[in-house]
Amino acid sequence: TKWVYTFGDGAAEGRAGDRNLLGGKGANLAEMCSLGLPVPPGFTVTTEACNWYYANGNAYPASLQKDVTTALDHIGALTDRRFGDPEKLLLVSVRSGARASMPGMMDTVLNLGLNDVTVEALAKDSGDARFAYDSYRRFIQMYSDVVMGLDHEVFEEILEEEKALLGHELDTDLSAAEWQATIALYKAKIEEELGKPFPQDPQEQLWGAIGAVFSSWMNHRAITYRRLHDIPESWGTAVNVQAMVFGNMGDTSATGVAFTRNPSTGEKMLYGEFLVNAQGEDVVAGIRTPQNITEKARIAAGSDKPSMQKLMPAAFNTFMEISERLEKHYRDMQDLEFTIERGKLWMLQTRSGKRTAKAALKTAVDMAAEGLITQEEAVARIDPSSLDQLLHPTIDPKAERNVVAIGLPASPGAATGEIVFSSNEAEEMRAIGRKVILVRIETSPEDIHGMHAAEGILTTRGGMTSHAAVVARGMGKPCVSGAGTLRVDYKAGTMTAMGNTFRKGEVITVDGGTGQVLKGAVAMLQPELSGDFAAIMEWADKIRRMKVRTNAETPADARMARSFGAEGIGLCRTEHMFFEGVRIIAMREMILADTEKDRRAALDKLLPMQRSDFLELFEIMAGLPVTIRLLDPPLHEFLPKSDQEIEEVAAAMKVSVDKLRHRTETLHEFNPMLGHRGCRLAISYPEIAEMQARAIFEAAVEAGKKTGNPVVPEIMVPLVGLKTELDFVKARIDAVAKSVMEESGVTVEYLTGTMIELPRAAIRAHVIAESAEFFSFGTNDLTQTTFGISRDDAASFLETYRQKGIVDQDPFVSLDIEGVGELVRMAADKGRSTRPDIKLGICGEHGGDPASIRFCEEVGLDYVSCSPFRVPIARLAAAQAAV
Ligand code: ADP
Ligand code: MG
Ligand code: MG
Repeated sequence: TKWVYTFGDGAAEGRAGDRNLLGGKGANLAEMCSLGLPVPPGFTVTTEACNWYYANGNAYPASLQKDVTTALDHIGALTDRRFGDPEKLLLVSVRSGARASMPGMMDTVLNLGLNDVTVEALAKDSGDARFAYDSYRRFIQMYSDVVMGLDHEVFEEILEEEKALLGHELDTDLSAAEWQATIALYKAKIEEELGKPFPQDPQEQLWGAIGAVFSSWMNHRAITYRRLHDIPESWGTAVNVQAMVFGNMGDTSATGVAFTRNPSTGEKMLYGEFLVNAQGEDVVAGIRTPQNITEKARIAAGSDKPSMQKLMPAAFNTFMEISERLEKHYRDMQDLEFTIERGKLWMLQTRSGKRTAKAALKTAVDMAAEGLITQEEAVARIDPSSLDQLLHPTIDPKAERNVVAIGLPASPGAATGEIVFSSNEAEEMRAIGRKVILVRIETSPEDIHGMHAAEGILTTRGGMTSHAAVVARGMGKPCVSGAGTLRVDYKAGTMTAMGNTFRKGEVITVDGGTGQVLKGAVAMLQPELSGDFAAIMEWADKIRRMKVRTNAETPADARMARSFGAEGIGLCRTEHMFFEGVRIIAMREMILADTEKDRRAALDKLLPMQRSDFLELFEIMAGLPVTIRLLDPPLHEFLPKSDQEIEEVAAAMKVSVDKLRHRTETLHEFNPMLGHRGCRLAISYPEIAEMQARAIFEAAVEAGKKTGNPVVPEIMVPLVGLKTELDFVKARIDAVAKSVMEESGVTVEYLTGTMIELPRAAIRAHVIAESAEFFSFGTNDLTQTTFGISRDDAASFLETYRQKGIVDQDPFVSLDIEGVGELVRMAADKGRSTRPDIKLGICGEHGGDPASIRFCEEVGLDYVSCSPFRVPIARLAAAQAAV
């Protein structure tokens, strides 16, 4: 097996397509080399080696040592240096790189190969002792942290003390001698803490770092990140070893990061930050405030620190050329990392840039307009779930803003919540249903869970590319970063801004679109879905085959869904209409009635209410299909519970409280979800189904007259397992239809169908289809009944299942394609076998889940139906599934 792939000097053994084997970073370094770009030479140890390592009790493949030595010689040959040789010192970085970029999850070690002897060689070689000792202390810090497990704070404390003692403000103020003294303190501390000295042997250093990269694949942060992003453990990480170039060689050197377009807005404009005389992640870590790359950005930001364009014009021009070239080459917005060593530019990384949903839409639409990609590609580029971000509220421009601080607009959307100062608190508060804003000086990968729990994030330090900003954008959470005028005191639990002191628990609002931090809660506006959003949706609509409907029963939901592009209602749950106001009393009268006569009397009160509900829905849907499900839930859900409720109903029914209580008790069920519900209700009490059918047909007649659009209602009978059940209920529906048409003299076309939500129904679908004109897959119940797992009780043990690797995903969120999906596929096929034109749809939660939608396309369903907010997601996912 080939475990090691080299790159350097215009050639590479790998290429961009080798991402699975070389990881994203390694594959793109190889590609940049092949393009002839200036990349320090190096090599990549494959992800297969990492998998081998884990499969073999953390050991390396036999030939790896030799392969690495050969590859190091290759770097040496290209750079005229040799690893471990003080005469021709070669220093390297050891960098991790998985298939999917996992920002901040894996740690990089720079300047590897330095020791007490080689550092002097470096000083002599470069003619810059300050640089040499600065590099060495960085190496000791990083290596001790990443490889030896000594917390970096230990070193920060020592350094802070030294700086205070020497009266220095910045790290760059320390002289060579001062760094030497600090290094001595570092080394002493390491011996004290770990009981062993800092390793001096470069080979030992190298293998220690390679091992650390492999083991970091299994560290807590990486595991959490993988879980949140559904990245399989089996992918493994690659290791990149690369010749060092130095951005910390004084004022003609620098390091920086940039996006080829603005990752927040998508605007076509190079967007980035850099720091003079700095190394590695100094820019992201917020050690000093970074400077803008272009003059244009500097002016826009109102910064008085010179841009890279001004300071280092030659390197800047080369960088601009390269960035444009890379964007064209990859045909996507790139996220670049670079270093300038004594005026010469080196590229250290390129990858597709993470961006907000808004920026993703804008770049996709713009690139299609520029001819860089096709409309189909533009549609394919948008992650459907990310559209959620655009449906976030923003602050009402008319609202009064009590601004207490301004930071960077790091991730769009606005959020209100109570202040918390730690990620654990954020998680605890979230667990008890509170909305919080996580306020931190800066965030690190340890804060991921807190960022997840928070509505929004506020930091006082760090730029647009800081950890908080990058992660928040990825999560779609509003974030304001680098609000420098805020003072956070973790110990006191306070945040001070312009004379205001806020305590933990006080409410603030962050506006990630403007960077403002506001006192209290502020009026919000729902987002407008025009411009780029509308363009992508229009292209998606041209591509997709399946229709997208919505699950809605209230006029407000139906209207919202229409504005999101819903093409009808796939599921109107009539029972939801019975919970409101006085209706619940009539409903209870109906349920608790002893005789059919009493029941009909109560139903007569409900009829006009149902009719007006349906009329309104039909009007909103203006001729689009509307599927109405007959009463479904177990009756006990409607029963009066408190004494007051029982008294209320008893009075309305003119019966004694005792009698009513007794009747309530007889309706108790042990397992209501498998009890007296669904079509079973319509069979016990046909008059309920008859009332509902009458309400539907009368509303259809009226709506047809009012709007001129004939309504074709689709009446859905729930929880059918037997054809005879459906036939019984269908006969009642048909009879009511006939009388309403006679009474009104209007012909109403309608369909009668059923939900497929019991395994028996799927198995007997060909027989049921003889009576059913449509099937709607009720995958919530179908998942429940197929697994035999109660949806309402599953949360506790399904989480355990996930943690123990028994299941990858919650089957109630993403359809279990192998199991439940097989029933869906079978029922669809069987249904078509006896009724070729049967209408097929899905109305469970899965109808809004992109992976499940892909499956629906595969099975050839006619439509998916989902909650209003997921309609745009479903439109896009259906288009992606169709190509
Ligand atoms: P991450 O995956 O966290 O971005 P990287 O491996 O990209 O980690 O390393 C972080 C930073 O370290 C890079 O952006 C770059 O500034 C610096 N770096 C890595 N390798 C080298 C190198 N060979 N020479 C100079 N700087 C390097
Ligand atoms: Mg990093
Ligand atoms: Mg990087």
